Amino acid sequence: MKQLGDNLYQIALMPRSSMNVYVADGIVFDAGSRLETGRLLKALRGQTITDHVLTHGHPDHQGASRAICENFGVPLACGEGDADAVSTGEIVRTMPDSTLSRMMAKIGGPAQQVSRRLQEGDMVGSFTVIETPGHSPGHVVFWRESDRVLILGDVFLNMSLLTTIPGLHEPPRPFTPNVGENRNSARKLLGLRPALVCFGHGPPLRDPNKFEAFINALPD
Ligand SMILES: [Zn+2]
Repeated sequence: MKQLGDNLYQIALMPRSSMNVYVADGIVFDAGSRLETGRLLKALRGQTITDHVLTHGHPDHQGASRAICENFGVPLACGEGDADAVSTGEIVRTMPDSTLSRMMAKIGGPAQQVSRRLQEGDMVGSFTVIETPGHSPGHVVFWRESDRVLILGDVFLNMSLLTTIPGLHEPPRPFTPNVGENRNSARKLLGLRPALVCFGHGPPLRDPNKFEAFINALPD
């Protein structure tokens, strides 16, 4: 675990921060793919974990969710719009219907009952939930005002998935059911001016101007 800030840690499950899990306030944010379950549990060994939450229910984020919940005996929370898919394990429903999505779903984890369905303004530890649908129907981000930390999930990425070179990019279209809605969700984050942005994919960003410039440049 790498400390990023006050009571905030990154677990990079793959090289170059290409798949990330975060831990803050005893809460595990996201769970990587099923293939990284052993690595994630090892990284969490010895930690006091009280909750597990997801930014969204895609297979590269809920892969080890059941393992985390069973291992630590903790409940799972995610956005209302993804909760049914995560609870039933039909995570392919959080993505556009395509052969690629069905292939991608194979790296996802088994069904895990969602016991808390998050909505705008809910609190998760010291973080406030902001609904950001588009990349999945129930995508949410987590905002901690006190030190301006934003756990962004995949509203956008800080790496190229092809080259792994860092840089801000919209999430891949084949896995984003509503591109326009995702852009509107990104615009909703204008004005937060996060001191630290934690991405599902790519290294952390500590540049609020770059964050805002990227959002402002998104097409309508
Ligand atoms: Zn992702």
